[in-house]
Amino acid sequence: MPLHQHFDYLLPPGVTTSPGCRVRVPFGKRELIGICWQLDPPVDTASTYELKTVLAVLDEHPVIGPQLQQLLSFAADYYHHPLGEVLVSALPALLREGKPVLGGHSRQLQLTETGQQTSADTLKRAARQLALWQRLQQGPLSETELSGDSASVRALVDKGLAQWQLLAFEPFTPLPERQKALALNPAQALAVTAINQAGGTFQRFLLEGVTGSGKTEVYLQAISPVLQQGQQVLVIVPEIGLTPQTLARFAQRFAVPLQIWHSNMTDAERLLAWQRSDSGEAAITIGTRSALFLPFRRLGLLIIDEEHDNSLKQQDGFRYHARDLAVKRAALTPCPVVLGSATPSLESLYNVQQGRFVHLQLPQRATSQQVPRIELLDLKQQVLKQGLADGTIRQIEQRLGRGQQVMLFLNRRGFAPALICHECGWLTECLRCAAFTTYHKQSRMLVCHHCGASRGVPHQCGQCGSTQLAPVGQGTEQLEEQLQQLFPQYPVRRLDRDSTRRKGSLEQLLQQIGSGEPAIIVGTQMLAKGHHFPNVSLVVIVDVDSALYSSDFRAGEQLAQLLTQVAGRAGRGDIAGTVLLQTHYPGHPLLQDVIQNGYQSFARSALLERQQTRLPPYQHLALFRTESFDSQDGLAFLSMLQQQVAAEFPQLQFLGPLQPPLERKAGKYRWQLQLFSGDRKLLHQALQQLLLNARQSPLGRKLKWQLDVDALDLS
Ligand code: ADP
Ligand code: ZN
Ligand code: ZN
Repeated sequence: MPLHQHFDYLLPPGVTTSPGCRVRVPFGKRELIGICWQLDPPVDTASTYELKTVLAVLDEHPVIGPQLQQLLSFAADYYHHPLGEVLVSALPALLREGKPVLGGHSRQLQLTETGQQTSADTLKRAARQLALWQRLQQGPLSETELSGDSASVRALVDKGLAQWQLLAFEPFTPLPERQKALALNPAQALAVTAINQAGGTFQRFLLEGVTGSGKTEVYLQAISPVLQQGQQVLVIVPEIGLTPQTLARFAQRFAVPLQIWHSNMTDAERLLAWQRSDSGEAAITIGTRSALFLPFRRLGLLIIDEEHDNSLKQQDGFRYHARDLAVKRAALTPCPVVLGSATPSLESLYNVQQGRFVHLQLPQRATSQQVPRIELLDLKQQVLKQGLADGTIRQIEQRLGRGQQVMLFLNRRGFAPALICHECGWLTECLRCAAFTTYHKQSRMLVCHHCGASRGVPHQCGQCGSTQLAPVGQGTEQLEEQLQQLFPQYPVRRLDRDSTRRKGSLEQLLQQIGSGEPAIIVGTQMLAKGHHFPNVSLVVIVDVDSALYSSDFRAGEQLAQLLTQVAGRAGRGDIAGTVLLQTHYPGHPLLQDVIQNGYQSFARSALLERQQTRLPPYQHLALFRTESFDSQDGLAFLSMLQQQVAAEFPQLQFLGPLQPPLERKAGKYRWQLQLFSGDRKLLHQALQQLLLNARQSPLGRKLKWQLDVDALDLS
């Protein structure tokens, strides 16, 4: 693997297998593990004498069952991606390497008798062990639920307070819920009833609820009857950062085995989770997009939380959208699928318009809290102190003084977007990309956020030799430092990809913030993702101006989503929240619409605009990209392909060939061709032809190219 095409083999006499089972086969001079995909009846020996014979069949039962086979075939066709690579996404690494499927047992940790009788005092000096001991008092915990606690686990086992117990993998047994369900408000009740009534059939729901409207409670109550019937539930979330918080809420409610799935797990953890899905042991799985390919034994409900989030689309290799494949999976199962968001994608709203999705709406917050006010702060002609207007600083001071928390949001990590030479204006650029390098002060590095290249900070200007290099612009690291100077008596907590890279650091930051102490929180859009901070009463959006004038047709939608999501972080506790938006363009129609009329109104007019300009979701879009060391090869290649395809498919619309905003990345020049059609079938026929031509073209061998169906990232 990965296979770019199918290969035929003979089975040894007397050996049988079925599609979806792994086989060991000779391949050239090597031996490889493959998946048996199709069994053809033996034909006459004359035409098969050249075929090689399978060396061994590794599985008695398929590792990829019939339903997943259908899903993966569909995905390989739809995204025009080699089936072999698609299969790689669906199988844990250990299974791809030929390791046997686990031998039927998992472990759980439980308190010993001594452990049950001991008092909290004996552990009071070991906070983590104490916390684990308290969790174990609620009941045994599975290995996956314990991931991250290994040191405390060992300590408790060594002290004789806890012990491992072997369990056979078997379907979970539904137990009474740990916690009483909340009494639903009418909108929530309507949503839960609709989803429950769909039980066992394929139905698509879009749950649109303003932030804090109680979508999670709807999920919980929609899940409850599914579990009672012994069926499994899959909840897909966009980022791994969201999983611990969401997991905790589900674990508080349901006394069933829960597991998480994300890209930071070890191979062994992945195999275990795969096995627990396959055996039906994992009642609830909360995971990032690839959880979609887990082999559930009895899937009863599929939920996609934050369905608008772009990270649900894989941005390299097999570029699938987890939302779209989830809908397909629910159709194959069949079971209901619920897409939830406070700011639904225009694609999903369009699907509602077309009658494909049932629209469930939660227009009000579940508690008596007000949705926060958004205030525009005009930056024109203001003296800015460290990127912040006087009015902003005053408000921050006030909130902190009242013992509340303040959150500042800046979508640029690092200290500054570049260093500039004070003498000649030279800017530090990436040597390999058409982009500036971000200055990271803590690590004293210049880092390119496009290709990841980093180097030490130069002492001199690369052009005139001056040593007067100064940071320009502002990043989260700088904002953190400046706020610390302005408010030395309060802690400043930074939450971005840099500060959360170390394992456990995100959890620690969330815990510190969650304590509610008056503090300043600085972060990137990670902050916008579903976290619940009750003591935050002021959110400042430091800079939106760069997003207001972007060439990407989706920029407006993304900005509106971001503003609404960030605003939703304010005033979730008992205090009323305010959102301050600093901008030089307070009159900008998008800002005005979102602020005065809300996301729904924005979305309605944005959809109309997409219809008039004939853009997705009214047309289907596929993006064909090239990368090459020569600056013109891509243009020549794409022009040729376009002419060929246009001749055969005159109804198709094209944009390009053109250079994307980031014209050079990691040393390679980039070109792209956008293909549009209102007719999906036609578009896919054209793509097939285009790929065929591309593979046959000698020019195509000189450069790297790839197809991105339903592309989101056009940069
Ligand atoms: P969302 O996921 O839509 O942002 P949450 O599910 O986090 O909203 O709910 C926001 C808050 O409202 C939570 O504290 C939750 O416990 C509370 N809540 C939800 N539903 C109800 C209800 N029916 N009655 C009372 N409180 C509720
Ligand atoms: Zn670069
Ligand atoms: Zn210079």
